[in-house]
Amino acid sequence: MIKTDILIIGAGPTGLFTVFEAGLLKLKCHIIDGLPQPGGQLTELYPKKPIFDIPGYPSVLAGDLVDNLMEQIKQFQPGFTLNEKADTIQKLEDGTFIVTTDKGTQHHANSIAIAGGLGSFEPRKPLIEDIEFYEDKGVEYFVKNPELFRDKKIVIAGGGDSALDWSVFLSNVASEVTLIHRRNEFRGALDSVEKVQELKHAGKIHLITPAEVVGLNGSEHLESIDIDENGAHRNIKTDYFIPLFGLTPKLGAIANWGLEIEKNAIKVNNALDYQTNIDGIYAIGDVNTYPGKLKLILCGFHEATLMVQSVYQRMNPGKKHVLKYTTVSGIDGFDGTRKEAEKQVVKSIE
Ligand SMILES: Cc1cc2nc3c(=O)[nH]c(=O)nc-3n(C[C@H](O)[C@H](O)[C@H](O)COP(=O)(O)OP(=O)(O)OC[C@H]3O[C@@H](n4cnc5c(N)ncnc54)[C@H](O)[C@@H]3O)c2cc1C
Repeated sequence: MIKTDILIIGAGPTGLFTVFEAGLLKLKCHIIDGLPQPGGQLTELYPKKPIFDIPGYPSVLAGDLVDNLMEQIKQFQPGFTLNEKADTIQKLEDGTFIVTTDKGTQHHANSIAIAGGLGSFEPRKPLIEDIEFYEDKGVEYFVKNPELFRDKKIVIAGGGDSALDWSVFLSNVASEVTLIHRRNEFRGALDSVEKVQELKHAGKIHLITPAEVVGLNGSEHLESIDIDENGAHRNIKTDYFIPLFGLTPKLGAIANWGLEIEKNAIKVNNALDYQTNIDGIYAIGDVNTYPGKLKLILCGFHEATLMVQSVYQRMNPGKKHVLKYTTVSGIDGFDGTRKEAEKQVVKSIE
């Protein structure tokens, strides 16, 4: 049985930063994630995309942000149970919890922080015959590594932000980019639509609308696709087909834990500490909902920071916690020299 103070479900940016904030309060964390590596959506969906709204970073690649978060929490030595999904939960008489994964690993914790984001990543697959056969042989549902498409012919399908943004981005990587959408209008952001139109006029993106991919061909690997363009069928040679029709949000087993759920998200008390309707179970990051909720990385960081204060009170009833700046208190786990140097700086300021 793995024992910890806070059991975090989800190793996305919110779950990772929780370890840091909890560490400052000397609370130990263990993280479960169904994926084989940490990072959540950033690693799984857009590791090579730059993010522009992380405070203090004018621009940071999603993958680099995850690496930095891992570096930042290393000193607090969190435990990881990766490649396993949190499956069942049991609340004990003393108010603590046992969470068991789908592979049977048991975790005992004082408090639970659900940072499950969108839940497990299930892409919406188009209904095309034999599509499973071509998965990893030319059909990709995520752009994990743009280099895979360098100097290749690619066809992207979809009308949302992912389809538009990746078409724009990959127009500088692939030898030929075709974007296919079943309507003439796109659902994505206006500036992305305008960028695609610009690239179309510059001859860098082939735009085919309204049209649908109806067939895939190739013996060992994808070689071409069949499309239905307003009733007319034609064949396009391509190395890759990337249908980007979004993800089906699936809370999975967590949906059966007795939590209040609204539109696939867990309701929390945002006026206080992001606790759910069950005492000791918190929900932070993309997985929760409350009036005015924004699904942004920095909102998850904020929620994690407030949540751990509540766990501290739960574990130390009646004990007052005085907030200290890291510039003053330093961080336990840093080497003594640095801590001593920091103390000297504080002293000289005083
Ligand atoms: C293409 C794209 C671009 C984006 N750009 C930006 C941006 O520029 N700025 C910004 O702020 N935000 C951006 N976002 C949103 C941002 O990625 C999310 O807000 C952020 O990932 C939420 O972090 P999280 O830790 O709450 O959840 P996630 O990153 O979704 O991580 C949740 C983790 O929980 C795991 N999990 C779920 N259920 C279980 C379970 N039962 N057991 C075990 N593990 C489980 C999942 O496997 C996953 O790893 C973007 C999103 C996308 C898709």
